[in-house]
Amino acid sequence: MKRVSDLGSTIDQNVTWNLRLRRYCNEAEAIQMEGLMALLNNVVFEEGVDFWSWERERGGQFTVKSMFNRLQDLELRSVAILRQFPFKLVWKIDVPLKVKLFFWTTLMGRTLTVDNLNHRGQQISPLCQVCNSLNESIVHLFLHCSVALEIWKIITSATPELYPSIVIMDSIEEWLVAWPRKQGPEITVRIWQVLPYATIWTIWKNRNEKIFRNKDIVKDKIIKEIKASVWYWLGSWIGRRRYRYQELLMSWDNIMKGEIHS
Ligand SMILES: [Zn+2]
Repeated sequence: MKRVSDLGSTIDQNVTWNLRLRRYCNEAEAIQMEGLMALLNNVVFEEGVDFWSWERERGGQFTVKSMFNRLQDLELRSVAILRQFPFKLVWKIDVPLKVKLFFWTTLMGRTLTVDNLNHRGQQISPLCQVCNSLNESIVHLFLHCSVALEIWKIITSATPELYPSIVIMDSIEEWLVAWPRKQGPEITVRIWQVLPYATIWTIWKNRNEKIFRNKDIVKDKIIKEIKASVWYWLGSWIGRRRYRYQELLMSWDNIMKGEIHS
């Protein structure tokens, strides 16, 4: 029989867990897994045998009263979180569910960037694998990394006044709130709506391909993928039928400025 302490090792008084999963987690499971890792973060191994203990009572014995109090606590806390959370920036946007889930964790500051992983006791190089020069954090990777900056500059070239403000943004949420809501032809309005999401999502995918599959970061490829995602996500809108993908690529700047037939 395995003991709990067989699943981790202690380095400098921090426990590093070695949970071998038989398959990869899907997005929803990955969020639960993150929660589990956050709970395990505070564990310290002690000598002796493993035993079950109910942490809400001093003696370690389960009581209904303590469980009731716990549930009440949780409810109060989740109401507080729900009130703070920018729902409109995630759930009201017309993007695939997996992308919404990703933004949900990102806006909560829980994306598995290396700073967050190291915070949980993992030992990974803190360097951003995209630029190899500064430490990776959510705001660095998606906004202020030299590669991210170049991408945002190109993607917003139709409205050059927007780009400089990116450097003063402290969070993804701030950037999404500052992002303009465009008027004009519906295709223009819709592209503007999903574009920051497509950009951040594509940077994340390419960053992961670099780390896990050793693929190079190629700016032009990322730009193409952003436009492809925008086009693909627009598929849920019936009006997309009036356009062709080639047209989007050829007239990107004009569409972004609203200078296109509707
Ligand atoms: Zn970087």
